[in-house]
Amino acid sequence: MWVFILYFCCQMTQSQRTSQGHTLAATLRSLWSGLRVTWKHLRSATRRNEHKAISDPDYFKSRQGVATIQYPHELLPIPDNGRYRLHNEIDDCIVCDKCAKICPVDCITMEPIRAVSEIGKTSDGTPKRLYAASFDIDMGKCCFCGLCTTVCPTECLTMTRVFDFSSYDIRDHYYSFAEMTEAEIAEKKAEWEAHQKEKAAASPKPAAEGTPKPSAEGTPKPPVEGKPARPVFKPRMKPPGTSS
Ligand code: SF4
Ligand code: SF4
Repeated sequence: MWVFILYFCCQMTQSQRTSQGHTLAATLRSLWSGLRVTWKHLRSATRRNEHKAISDPDYFKSRQGVATIQYPHELLPIPDNGRYRLHNEIDDCIVCDKCAKICPVDCITMEPIRAVSEIGKTSDGTPKRLYAASFDIDMGKCCFCGLCTTVCPTECLTMTRVFDFSSYDIRDHYYSFAEMTEAEIAEKKAEWEAHQKEKAAASPKPAAEGTPKPSAEGTPKPPVEGKPARPVFKPRMKPPGTSS
């Protein structure tokens, strides 16, 4: 290349040589600047970027080194307060339905069965009076708003740190947390029905039809001692032709 440049320089006039000399110098300067940047990045690529969590105060300072990671063998630190896959610690669930009611996309469903008596306590001491025949969350619908976790009175419904649960089949995103078997569900339902029948049999029968019920209507309350009796308000129809 240098021979080629020298040949052309010999063929040029003095003014042409000066002009071409400036151009060549500018080209070489530009080339040198570019090469310096390339060299700097080449040297930087021999080091690894230190992966810091976004909560780290030096997060935006660590720009040197290779930032690419070998996912899924390597993971970036994730924020602790992120919203990821939901989990229900079913032993602490009182099946109160609050989470299902607040869910904006109706992705939580449950079937409670009433218990005849208290069936235990959650880890925070809340009494349990309902069995969970089913408790399902369709994470395929979930918009990760986190509202269900904030209303849960026993804090059994939480966001886990599992964020990578992608699947080829959306039905895999349907999570069931209830642990009762079909036989147990049938048994508890039967227990409750028997209890209801027992209660109905023990309670006094309603009065026979036709017996006039005692009515409080029309019987003015006796005035409290020392207080004047309040006048009874009796609405009347307006006489026709009068305006308000
Ligand atoms: S995070 Fe929001 S959308 Fe998802 S289940 Fe809870 S309330 Fe429903
Ligand atoms: S709000 Fe909590 S305790 Fe109530 S049903 Fe939902 S997960 Fe269970």
